[in-house]
Amino acid sequence: MKGIGIASRAETLPPFLAMEVLERAQALERQGAHVIHLELGEPDFPTPACIQSAALEALRAGRTKYTHSLGIRELREAIAAHYARRYQVRVSPDQILVTAGTSPALWLVFSAILEGGDEVILTDPHYACYPNVIRFAGGRPVTVPVREREGFQLDPEAVRTMIGARTKALLINSPANPTGAVLPAPALRALADLGCPIISDEIYHGLTYEGEEHSILEYTDQAVVLNGFSKAYAMTGWRLGYAIVPGWLIRPLQKMHQNFFISASDFVQRAAIAALTDAGAEVEKMRAIYNERRRFIVQALRRIGFIISQEPQGAFYVLADATGFTADSTRFAFEILDRAHVAATPGIDFGRGAEGHIRFSYANSLENIREAVRRIETYLGTRDQGMKGRKDEGSKG
Ligand code: PMP
Repeated sequence: MKGIGIASRAETLPPFLAMEVLERAQALERQGAHVIHLELGEPDFPTPACIQSAALEALRAGRTKYTHSLGIRELREAIAAHYARRYQVRVSPDQILVTAGTSPALWLVFSAILEGGDEVILTDPHYACYPNVIRFAGGRPVTVPVREREGFQLDPEAVRTMIGARTKALLINSPANPTGAVLPAPALRALADLGCPIISDEIYHGLTYEGEEHSILEYTDQAVVLNGFSKAYAMTGWRLGYAIVPGWLIRPLQKMHQNFFISASDFVQRAAIAALTDAGAEVEKMRAIYNERRRFIVQALRRIGFIISQEPQGAFYVLADATGFTADSTRFAFEILDRAHVAATPGIDFGRGAEGHIRFSYANSLENIREAVRRIETYLGTRDQGMKGRKDEGSKG
């Protein structure tokens, strides 16, 4: 019998390298190694107690059924109130779709708007999954380089030159994964003024250490906002996110959500209301701790030879230039995993512009970060010795 066969869009889908590093790290752990994990975009904190209590209460109250396909009204109202309070923007609960994480929202939005060959402009480096989602939905990612010496800032004028007849949208992410760059208000305004529809992934809002956090909705009401609870509220495993969209887009998204996902989980949505209304102080505590780690890891990595020309301003990553050690970030990341037992993500996962870089996540304790840097330093010392030895041998022969 002939095999079913794999669709080329699935066959050609690249893996998510951060997950490949994690899986190799887990294999080492099964052999007894102690690995320090700096590869994941996952808070090390437990979900705040008030959110856990709300979930338990909802479970006990029998909130275990399907909900309205857009999400429960109370949560959509809480999201609208959150955007009103924080950014002074008016959005209606009827413009909000609640999904099982930001990832499904990303997939639904691109699937709803892209026809074959439509282009989406995004930065390089960018979140690893963006181009894969765009291609899977039939679109074509078009990248605008952002440079380390410019703090990885997206230049609206550079975007303008990329806008063409097939451009469907501009995808932005501030604070950004993997660079930690935060777009200031004038840049957001200039981007909105380009007139190109914007999709703004605001999942790292709440985790800004320098500069101000602004939503794209302050500058245009024709943008799509993607957001979720994974990062600022330490809720990765709960799987909850949302899209805020212009009125004309909600019905197509709703139909897709009904057909492909039905609804997000009821009790998790109840817990998310508590996140938005009661967890502010907890989020602020976590932010202060990330900030302390950020300062520490930047100076520690610089000390051992990584180049970080500008400090990341938000999220919980440092994209460190490792060209003093390697041009091949994948090899180098697996080398420090195998030899120093420190897991970190190869820059190439985030686009060609991040090759020669390593992304370190500081969503781990200061103690672990200190130990990780010590291990890398020790390994780099032995590596230097090894290289010197090989050179000396070479000159003898
Ligand atoms: N956007 C960005 C920029 C991310 O870093 C992530 C998670 N790594 C996501 C979206 C997806 O997050 P989730 O599906 O957990 O909400």
